[in-house]
Amino acid sequence: MADKRILIVEDSPTMRQLIAYSLKRLSGVSIVEAGDGVEALKKMATETVDLILTDINMPIMDGLKLVSLVRGDARLRNIPIAIITTEGAAEDRERALALGANDYIVKPIQSGRVLAVARELLGIS
Ligand SMILES: [Mg+2]
Repeated sequence: MADKRILIVEDSPTMRQLIAYSLKRLSGVSIVEAGDGVEALKKMATETVDLILTDINMPIMDGLKLVSLVRGDARLRNIPIAIITTEGAAEDRERALALGANDYIVKPIQSGRVLAVARELLGIS
């Protein structure tokens, strides 16, 4: 079976590394990284991804805009999306879910939560 590809969209390299590290515990998964929504769309123009994990607050293009563009794109609209938000950002969470995000992960990142969301949205055990 081909690897499942997970796109991590997050402007903090440290946070990207932390999330990627958590996901390494899943077998048959490869990671693609982007620093903002524009870079994420560029990567998805040339690579197929199976799951998007995206931060909300990022320069250039934020996570809410990215969710809305992915859901409006015929080729990308079925890719599951989990957003990554800070604790207390309930409004962002609700907006992202209303725009079509499937689930969310709250910072500070808990490895177990990242894995549970990734497994659920990829449909793997
Ligand atoms: Mg950020």
